[in-house]
Amino acid sequence: MRNYHARPTGSHFIAGLYVEDDDGTPIEVIYPATGQKIAEVHAATPAVVRHALDAAQRAQPAWAAMSGTERGRILRRAADMIRARNRELSELETLDTGKPIQETLVADATSGADALEYFGGLAGALTGEHIQLAGGDFVYSRREALGVCVGIGAWNYPTQIACWKAAPALACGNTMIFKPSETTPLSALKVAEILTEAGAPPGVFNVVQGMGEVGAALVSDPRVAKVSLTGSVPTGQKVYAAAAAGVKNVTMELGGKSPLLVFDDADIESAVSGAILGNFYSTGQVCSNGTRVFVQKGIKAAFLDRLAERLKNAVIGDPLDMATNFGPMVSEGQLNIVLNYIAKGVAEGARLVAGGKRVARDGFYLEPTVFADVTDDMTIAREEIFGPVMCVLDFDDEAEAMARANATEYGLAAGVFTRDIQRAHRVAAGFEAGTCYINTYNDAPVEAPFGGMKLSGVGRENSKAAIEHYSQLKSVYVKMGPLDAPF
Ligand code: NDP
Repeated sequence: MRNYHARPTGSHFIAGLYVEDDDGTPIEVIYPATGQKIAEVHAATPAVVRHALDAAQRAQPAWAAMSGTERGRILRRAADMIRARNRELSELETLDTGKPIQETLVADATSGADALEYFGGLAGALTGEHIQLAGGDFVYSRREALGVCVGIGAWNYPTQIACWKAAPALACGNTMIFKPSETTPLSALKVAEILTEAGAPPGVFNVVQGMGEVGAALVSDPRVAKVSLTGSVPTGQKVYAAAAAGVKNVTMELGGKSPLLVFDDADIESAVSGAILGNFYSTGQVCSNGTRVFVQKGIKAAFLDRLAERLKNAVIGDPLDMATNFGPMVSEGQLNIVLNYIAKGVAEGARLVAGGKRVARDGFYLEPTVFADVTDDMTIAREEIFGPVMCVLDFDDEAEAMARANATEYGLAAGVFTRDIQRAHRVAAGFEAGTCYINTYNDAPVEAPFGGMKLSGVGRENSKAAIEHYSQLKSVYVKMGPLDAPF
């Protein structure tokens, strides 16, 4: 293993400094490509959690009192620093997650930098309104910070998730305590370090490690005004309920089982690209993946043929090798979850047309897997697998496809491939999903709102919409003349 000088030097980052408390439960950091331990952090003890909450609370009023332009300048400086250190941060992200370096160089630190730049740019433009009333009276609204926010992340995009939450929160004058997934604890620490180097005052962005109970302790603390979670639906339900007890604001970015519709008139090559991007990028560990690929019967055979051809181009290997385009699963646990789903698919009668097996090498590698002849009632068509498993279903007409696409409790994303422009927009309008794609799949630029409907979530990340979720409006009524009263 190379010696990565970029490794964080402590478990937590609080009040501008790395913090260690060896009393916390040790958490081993495993490199998914080898199964070897590469680092160890400690879960936050109650004392560390208290320290983070104190630091975030202490820092918040002064941070909110700065002008938006000043706050934004710090965020934009952090974005520049992240871009300048992209190589080193991408290597760390690869070590944390096992994702191929050819992905992490373009999709992780860089998208985090985009968020910091975008919200840094918006920070100085945040305003309230002036509302004229009768007789010269008026109301003005002030857009104010919420206070201390908690961010809790999943393990698939640790740098991006930290930045997607930190950037709008900090732009609006909040401070944040971020808890990464215990599986991928390293990258968020570097985000905290860089924000501090960029000028964020101590306590503005803090990172604490730990399992679910550390997240739960943060969520239930009365000093916390808002919780933003990226995770599974069952965790989302728990965290939402805990936040509700304190009537806290929430953003919930949860799981999905998204449909991807391919009509007879689609460009097959693009549709196959969409299905590959929507099932195998990041080894299939993407919440918005289009895992139910509905292909119209007229092109089903051609679609499956081209897919089989293109799968031969998957390069499974060392994620730090630029040639590798398909890496390991994040952990042995996740690999076993996915292998169980594959076994269920076979047992329930789906036709395995590609992959399905663990790869014979060190680490947590699984072949890109495709099932055909999947039916709506099969477990693999109903439950989120969160791995490289594509289910191909077929359909006769649009009405049938739409009804089946929407027959899920999830509503994160949905896609359609067709050359018929009216059908494309009709289908997009009919999808019960927060993020829809026409002739593309899984783009997530910071300029566009991202989030789910139904069980897939509440609130939106990215775009101007995120500002609404990290700020609150205060209305100030102003009387311009004498005030009457009944007596
Ligand atoms: P989990 O729901 O298991 O965990 C998410 C985070 O919540 C982790 O940091 C976890 O800690 C923490 N957590 C667990 N229990 C609690 C609790 N009671 N209170 C507070 N925090 C808690 O998700 P995974 O990490 O396994 O990630 C995969 C899931 O995330 C998938 O369902 C996927 O769809 C979803 N996801 C959604 C995205 C979106 O934007 N909509 C994007 C990426 C993923 P720990 O695990 O360390 O114990």
